[in-house]
Amino acid sequence: MDKKSIEILGDNHISTSVETPLRSDAFDKSDVEKITAIQYHFKMIMQELGLDLTDDSLAGTPYRFAKMYVKELFYGLKPDNKPKLSVFENKYGYNKVLIEQNINIDSSCEHHFLPITGKAHIGYIPKDKVIGLSKINRLVDYYAHRPQVQERLSLQILKDLQHILKTEDVIVVINAKHLCVSSRGIKDKNSFTTTIEYGGCFNNDLKRKEFLDIVKG
Ligand SMILES: [Zn+2]
Repeated sequence: MDKKSIEILGDNHISTSVETPLRSDAFDKSDVEKITAIQYHFKMIMQELGLDLTDDSLAGTPYRFAKMYVKELFYGLKPDNKPKLSVFENKYGYNKVLIEQNINIDSSCEHHFLPITGKAHIGYIPKDKVIGLSKINRLVDYYAHRPQVQERLSLQILKDLQHILKTEDVIVVINAKHLCVSSRGIKDKNSFTTTIEYGGCFNNDLKRKEFLDIVKG
């Protein structure tokens, strides 16, 4: 891709697929091997920027950076790290909307590798299965900890919940600020981005409005 197209794709925050684009050998290396390799490459970046890596304050940065990428910011790339999402029989027959709101979003934009921070609000109408509430938060956290675009993050959460809960009746709203919009480029400090993805009964305007009114508070 030429440099102009690279800029256009990044500035318009276009994603190309619902699946995170991963290489087939993505997890051939262990975490330790990845940290060692990234540590080396980030040291090269710092040196290219002209930084003196013999300074005590900078010497450990390549290792800290590499460990943070593999173990924290991007732990959600690795399928082994996916939370176990146990579901239970809907014994009490609850069949109205259940909403988990103000779930923290700590993610990173895949075009600039800068933070995306905000809140997710998720609703579903149980059929035969219900899920432990904290599991929804854990699933959001897992998918957020990848290089992301907000639209894909919303869809990945939606599709997983629909699959686990065996119902299309799920809705996902995310409000988030993108540091790549607030701190570079247009440098707009106040704007934020909202995405809404849903299926099943939430295609009905009234059902969707009921959810959105509750989320608005
Ligand atoms: Zn970005």
